[in-house]
Amino acid sequence: MALKNKCITILGAGIGGLTSAIAMARLGSDVTIFERAQKNQNTGAGIQISPNGFGVMRALGLKEALVSQGNALEYINVQNYKKPSFSARVDLINVTHGNVNPHIVIHRFDLINILMKTALKLGVKIIFNKQAMDITDAGSSLRIKFTDETFHGCQILVGADGIHSLTRKVIGCAEEPKFTGKVAWRALIESKFIPLNDIPNEATIRFGPNRHIVTYPIRGGKLINLVAVEKREEWTAEGWDQPDNRANLEKSFQHWPTDVRKLLSVAENIKLWGLFVHELPKKWHSNMAVLIGDACHPMVPFLGQGANMAIEDAWVLAEELDNSNNVLDAFKIFQTRRFKRIAKVASASSSNGDIYHAVGVRANLINIGMKASYRLKPSFIQSKYDWLYGVDVSRGD
Ligand SMILES: Cc1cc2nc3c(=O)[nH]c(=O)nc-3n(C[C@H](O)[C@H](O)[C@H](O)COP(=O)(O)OP(=O)(O)OC[C@H]3O[C@@H](n4cnc5c(N)ncnc54)[C@H](O)[C@@H]3O)c2cc1C
Repeated sequence: MALKNKCITILGAGIGGLTSAIAMARLGSDVTIFERAQKNQNTGAGIQISPNGFGVMRALGLKEALVSQGNALEYINVQNYKKPSFSARVDLINVTHGNVNPHIVIHRFDLINILMKTALKLGVKIIFNKQAMDITDAGSSLRIKFTDETFHGCQILVGADGIHSLTRKVIGCAEEPKFTGKVAWRALIESKFIPLNDIPNEATIRFGPNRHIVTYPIRGGKLINLVAVEKREEWTAEGWDQPDNRANLEKSFQHWPTDVRKLLSVAENIKLWGLFVHELPKKWHSNMAVLIGDACHPMVPFLGQGANMAIEDAWVLAEELDNSNNVLDAFKIFQTRRFKRIAKVASASSSNGDIYHAVGVRANLINIGMKASYRLKPSFIQSKYDWLYGVDVSRGD
């Protein structure tokens, strides 16, 4: 079933939906995306495109755009919150994980703009302000109903509609996402205010009891992206992400060293996210609809892989739809190719959260172990994520 001239409908113009549209349009299909937002809004914060996700971007012809608008990270530093020296340091320039692609960090708005422009150039139709409210199986096609009382019929639907996916319900997954017991504040800080000794093009993860902070520069170092995570029993707010007072963030890190507290004191437009995950569904598709990205497998952000997995999904799905004899076979092979990797990445992401948030003796042991292996056998730390970063699905891995 070559994709050429096939009509594809995608729900959601996020990173997964747009990448999927580009991959399929390049293979000749006629793609329409429905997006509930009015346009690409200047929201969101920094996002990491690691070498595995970058491989797909390169294959889609987006290397130059990403490199020119993103920052290529040189190191990832891991540091105990009380200690001035690193517990471990991952060299991203000289150690390639079997994949020479860079680790790019970029503002989500800039990435979405790159993807949107590329999709439009390829003839993809992006229809904004269209929120799907119901999807019914009409036998040989699916019928999407929108909140403006209009309808759209389709035979191939890609559900890239994020964590609260409507498409997910169509394929029979009715359960609600579960709160992980962790919340994340996200903020951007103008680097002219930065009192912290952050070195350009390095990501730093500072960990302490029940909380951690990740910082890295974006937009050529003009902004510092901040993600601060805290362990919490419950999430009682009505929304999944909401504006929050700086005072709450500062209170959570009040026992941390002065340089970190100074950084938090200049954070603006702070958003608080409850971190939720789904069980990985056993079946990712029906006969006509398939899930990609967060609609299928949202994961905690402690490895920075949610968007990267959506990007990999997009490539593999397009490839399988183009190569398989029929849609259902393509969906089945797509799921088989992705299942184990997604499960492993989601599990490694959760483990990172547990490691960063360790308390007491366990925290000390983790720190000592990390330091010792970094100093005695740096290759252990360097190669820990080869299985993740070393894969490039666009070259058939
Ligand atoms: C604190 C934090 C930090 C993160 N950092 C990273 C990182 O560094 N690297 C990384 O890879 N990932 C990171 N992630 C995860 C990443 O943001 C998500 O995994 C990624 O955005 C998922 O992309 P998606 O396209 O699947 O879904 P989304 O980005 O959620 O896009 C879904 C789209 O569908 C639209 N939509 C939803 N419902 C409907 C509907 N009914 N009708 C029409 N349109 C609809 C939405 O408006 C949206 O545009 C982070 C997440 C968090 C919370």
